[in-house]
Amino acid sequence: MTSTDERGEGRGYPSCATVDLAAIRHNLGVLRAAAPGALQLATVKANAYGHGLIPVARAALAAGANWLGVAQLAEAFALRDGLDRAGIDRADAPILAWITPSSCDFSAAMKADIDLSVSWRSGLADICAAARTVGRPARVHVKIDTGMSRAGATLADLPALASELREAADRGLVDIVGAWSHLSRADDPSEAGNASTANHVRVFEEGLAILRDAGVRPRIRHLAATSGVLWHPETHYDMVRVGIGMYGLSPDPAVATAANLGLIPALALRAPLTLVKVIEEGTPASYGGTWVAPTRRWIGLIPLGYGDGILRAASNRARILVRTASGTLSAPIVGRVCMDQFVVDLGSAPGNAGWPASRSGVAPASVGDIATLFGNGDDGEPLADEWASAADTINYEIVTRLGAHIPREYRDRSRQRNGREERA
Ligand SMILES: *Cc1c(COP(=O)(O)O)cnc(C)c1O
Repeated sequence: MTSTDERGEGRGYPSCATVDLAAIRHNLGVLRAAAPGALQLATVKANAYGHGLIPVARAALAAGANWLGVAQLAEAFALRDGLDRAGIDRADAPILAWITPSSCDFSAAMKADIDLSVSWRSGLADICAAARTVGRPARVHVKIDTGMSRAGATLADLPALASELREAADRGLVDIVGAWSHLSRADDPSEAGNASTANHVRVFEEGLAILRDAGVRPRIRHLAATSGVLWHPETHYDMVRVGIGMYGLSPDPAVATAANLGLIPALALRAPLTLVKVIEEGTPASYGGTWVAPTRRWIGLIPLGYGDGILRAASNRARILVRTASGTLSAPIVGRVCMDQFVVDLGSAPGNAGWPASRSGVAPASVGDIATLFGNGDDGEPLADEWASAADTINYEIVTRLGAHIPREYRDRSRQRNGREERA
């Protein structure tokens, strides 16, 4: 494993998120096989779902992803900057940003060759103003609200937007690259879920017809995210936007697990035990004393907390896997997750009250032993899915919450086999 200290990052942060780029490539291959006829947009918003924007974007492009997608324009600027620095031709790395309020610097976006989503006439006017300044057409994707009531023009508002788009295109102010929308229940296999997806498709088709009637001819229609790719082939159109699946997580493990889908979780979060000690029966751990040692116990301390993105809702509920000198040990979180640390229960300690740890038998783990909070499950460690159910949330939140300050380390198993390990 290469030390992140070499880069000057990670100094003083004992924990590390290891990202397996070969897994990301593999997952993109699985998703491509599920939607073979469609272009593939790799969704790298939220710091690539916590996996690290630039290394993941580069791995995705290397794996054949045709597009990159982010939510915020700020993310798009950082992405373009990183790809430029890596010498990646802009023509090989089109970027779509979909949160584009009027406060955005659309001229800068155009200069960075970022495609912009348009949902409203006012947004289109701002983009046209930027296009006049820059002196060339802005590349836009018109968004249709097909039933999520998030961004996008409703069918009622679309005709007016469509005619203004047509006019702007005629005046050379916009290049209408795409027409798109987003599904709200594509992971829901119930009758109501399937009816919702069918309705999204119907509304999308109506929207496309409105655009066609107005003389607006988008080249790329896109509707599906990972769950649409996996479970609704009728939503694939010309391009799919894959997110959670490329990171090796299921959009809904209750429908199909990552293993069922042949996906490999790419991120493993690890931290060393910073303390191992014995506490007496009846001793509370962490704030509020929500856990009290049921017997004399060995406990350990992990240097990660909610300030790092470890959800406090996982207090007393999630577990970690510690690799010890003699094997692995599954250890539950006990007490509340603090801002920077949490306590785990390593098992009962023999001996009598008041005896020091040195007289309490062989410690089940040692300071410095590496704990895996979540990973791909190969060693019996929890998946992000297990943390998600412990914290009453979704795996998306477990990975995207991880603080950007936690050092990321990039591994590439297929290259390692050839004796070369490359950090992206
Ligand atoms: C986040 C997002 C995606 C990716 O969704 P996944 O479920 O992670 O595949 C695609 N499109 C839009 C608009 C998104 O916001």
